[in-house]
Amino acid sequence: MGYNIAIDGPAGAGKSTIAKMVAKKLNFIYVDTGAMYRAIALYLLRDGVDTANEAAVSEAVKNADITIRYQDGAQQVILNGEDVSGLIRTEEVGNTASASVYPAVRAHLLELQRSLAASQNVIMDGRDIGTCILPDAQAKIYLTASSRVRALRRYKELTEKGTMCNLEEIEQDIIERDHRDMTREIAPLKQAEDAVLLDSSEMTIDQVVQAIIDTAKAHGLKEEA
Ligand code: C5P
Repeated sequence: MGYNIAIDGPAGAGKSTIAKMVAKKLNFIYVDTGAMYRAIALYLLRDGVDTANEAAVSEAVKNADITIRYQDGAQQVILNGEDVSGLIRTEEVGNTASASVYPAVRAHLLELQRSLAASQNVIMDGRDIGTCILPDAQAKIYLTASSRVRALRRYKELTEKGTMCNLEEIEQDIIERDHRDMTREIAPLKQAEDAVLLDSSEMTIDQVVQAIIDTAKAHGLKEEA
């Protein structure tokens, strides 16, 4: 069995940036589960499925085959044979993903996520990794930051890409997404009892990366590759 690091937390907390860096330092595989939900969301958007209709989403998801591939260490998400890694990085797809995480969608992705972690060293990020997907992960982190700080980070990211956006709207979106992710009945976003809480509002990226590596070492990780 591999060594598993689970990172959960709200949108925009920096999970993927941090997890990628930790993976590189420790020579672990980075598994981005949000990308899988986004790929399903893209399928639903293309198919014109109403995300408020649980039965329709549950039916449609059966036709969305999601697999993962790695190229030069980067995760690619394959939807019915098509690499959609670039297409899923929009706010629309993110919000649709968050609005469509019904039990059938989670069940559809559960085995894929568990099988990736079963045989290799992985750092996996998402919302329910420490609580549901990998309850036996050796190290669990709950990474968060204030909604203002998260909105500012996203604002910076978008404006750097040349996308026009409004900070207040982004923060409002983040607050709504948090609410939806934390209050849903199935696998809500919450800190696992045995997770270490990291609030990155006033930490640098390097400090967060180091804190995670220290946590893993404190939980039995022997050596850095
Ligand atoms: O992390 P990311 O923004 O890519 O995730 C998109 C959405 O997918 C989240 O807002 C969340 O609702 C959902 N998600 C989830 N469980 C995960 C990963 C993502 O419910 N493990």
